[in-house]
Amino acid sequence: MRDSKDKQLGMDRRITRRDFLNGVALTLGAAIVPSSLFLACERHLEPEQSPDYYPPALTGLRGSHPGSFETAHSLRDGSFWQHAGTPADTGESYDLVIVGGGLSGLAAAHFFRKAAGPQARILILENHDDFGGHAKRNEFHVANRTLLGYGGTYSIESPAPYSDVAKGLISELGIVVGSYAKYVSRDLYRSLGLTPNIFFNKETFGTDKLVVDPASLGGTETGDRVGQTAERWQKFLAEAPLSAKAKRDYDRIYHEQKDYLPGLSSDQKKARMARMSYAKFLTDVVRVDGEVVKVLQAGPHPLFGVGIDAVAAQDAWGMGFPGFAGMHLDPTPGKGMNRDAIYNEEAERYFFHFPDGNASIARLLVRKLIPGAIPGNSAFDVVTARANYAKLDQRGSPARIRLNSTVVRVKHNGDPSTAKEVEITYARFGKTYTVRAAHCILACWHVMIPYLCEELPGKQKQALYSAAKVPLLYTNVAINNWEAFQKLGVSSVYAPGCYHTAATLDAPVSIGEYHATESPDQPIVIHMMKTPCQPGLPARDQHRAGRIELFSTTFETMERNIRDQLVRTLGPGGFDPARDITAITVNRWPHGYAYEYNSLFDDFWLEGGETPCEVARKQFGRISIANSDAGAYAYTDEAINQAWRAVGEITKA
Ligand SMILES: Cc1cc2nc3c(=O)[nH]c(=O)nc-3n(C[C@H](O)[C@H](O)[C@H](O)COP(=O)(O)OP(=O)(O)OC[C@H]3O[C@@H](n4cnc5c(N)ncnc54)[C@H](O)[C@@H]3O)c2cc1C
Repeated sequence: MRDSKDKQLGMDRRITRRDFLNGVALTLGAAIVPSSLFLACERHLEPEQSPDYYPPALTGLRGSHPGSFETAHSLRDGSFWQHAGTPADTGESYDLVIVGGGLSGLAAAHFFRKAAGPQARILILENHDDFGGHAKRNEFHVANRTLLGYGGTYSIESPAPYSDVAKGLISELGIVVGSYAKYVSRDLYRSLGLTPNIFFNKETFGTDKLVVDPASLGGTETGDRVGQTAERWQKFLAEAPLSAKAKRDYDRIYHEQKDYLPGLSSDQKKARMARMSYAKFLTDVVRVDGEVVKVLQAGPHPLFGVGIDAVAAQDAWGMGFPGFAGMHLDPTPGKGMNRDAIYNEEAERYFFHFPDGNASIARLLVRKLIPGAIPGNSAFDVVTARANYAKLDQRGSPARIRLNSTVVRVKHNGDPSTAKEVEITYARFGKTYTVRAAHCILACWHVMIPYLCEELPGKQKQALYSAAKVPLLYTNVAINNWEAFQKLGVSSVYAPGCYHTAATLDAPVSIGEYHATESPDQPIVIHMMKTPCQPGLPARDQHRAGRIELFSTTFETMERNIRDQLVRTLGPGGFDPARDITAITVNRWPHGYAYEYNSLFDDFWLEGGETPCEVARKQFGRISIANSDAGAYAYTDEAINQAWRAVGEITKA
């Protein structure tokens, strides 16, 4: 049975889906390398030097790809040093070593170079095979056409306005955020009659059914939101596979002007809503049918990584979820609101999406640091420029980026208060090496830092541990054409019960020589998103469960789920996964968004006082700490702000 279903889904099709680079499967973690493969690796210790080394074009399991995390996990499990030999001294010495080549690490290198001068010697160590961290570029080549996708960070945007520092860096890179309207065909999908839809799946709602989404719950990423019209509401209410009561309740929460907490002041209501989940608000206060909760459950996934069971009603109000129109709430943000839920008009306008997301920012930063690595000289030509990875780590270059290198120890040579240098040890393809530096910035994930830096005070380590990130899957599926989307009138699909809760046609953005697909008979990328979580648990536990799920699910299972979901959603429009899918890249981020404080679970966020991220990011001797975790805020601007702060700590002396 499984075999014939798999055949229909196209599981046997020869699409590009596996991680191979330079002829060597990228499963090179020190702890897991079989001896035969290890010998192969020995001959490939500098794979980045090969002209074929080009990670953006790899498909299959990307993000935290095989080979990137095994060393870190063996360090966490206490087994790394049992197998590691004595580290080899590279003899290299730098002014600054940065751990982590994400936007924070790259921005830190940029700021430091500006302060210390162009000859400052900087080394960035990054455990992945590509730079950029979450700002990840995915490339596909379909029918003589290059398609770009974002494997992580989607856009320049932030609910809080960009700081002067962050804005300054964006502008220094040549990005004119205000010009975005020139590059995006904002009306393309609407002009073809495509709008956001909801897919009700059989397992959750009793039947598979695609229905117009009258409130554009999921339609954010392509800019395909449409106004709520009476016609769309009627269609939804007629076709949605919900009970009559659930339909009435769904309609009611969007249109009823009722105060569900009468007798309380606005502040009292907000205080109560800050400690009550939105799901509880809907069931216990508004008293809606359970099916309504199921429809809305995954609504906050893209921002919070959890559903409405773990998002405060106050935050749901801030994000524009229904049920609050008659509550007479003062528009000022309430205590304990998440920044994602606080609307800011200035921030709303500061938006720019490159076809590869903020990977373009990473590439612009790399080009500034190592001019030969990426040809060109503008924020336009960077979109199609092919990076030359062989240039990233060259002897003689003041700034160097060493990929496939997991830092396993950072310690002062001597007493941290007086030491003149820091020794950094990293593992690369099964061997360990040391370098020295006058300063070190840890721009990596905070949960990793206590394992690297034994010297840190216990309180700081605890704070660092508490920054466990939000797991996510950002999946890109390249398809031959999007005629099924056109036939069904669909631009994006919100699928609250499915494996991926969102599927969206790529945003039609053309920059420089890159031209977005504008006709349904041409290839395109579908972007799908999943936030694995376990409703009912506290947010951090949900994230932990989701992280385990992502690490333990095979690519084959993910691929089967993707094909199954797409055919069930789009099959009625003629979509055939065996025929139409040409490549799949799953960007797996078990350590995704920085954890943002949540009034349901983090009392300090409501009550005030020092937050864990403030404790975590304290400078220690010659070690400073950056990353978006240092601000507990999962946005690019925070990665930049924290880089600026960390560099300031070093250069102020
Ligand atoms: C899927 C996704 C989508 C997002 N979308 C947006 C968006 O649209 N807009 C926005 O503003 N923000 C977005 N964010 C958040 C934004 O991407 C981040 O805030 C920002 O990119 C973080 O940069 P960073 O350098 O702090 O961390 P990271 O990008 O995580 O970089 C840190 C790097 O350090 C590396 N590292 C960790 N440990 C070690 C070690 N021991 N040795 C060597 N290297 C190590 C990591 O592998 C990683 O590459 C998104 C995040 C995710 C996960």
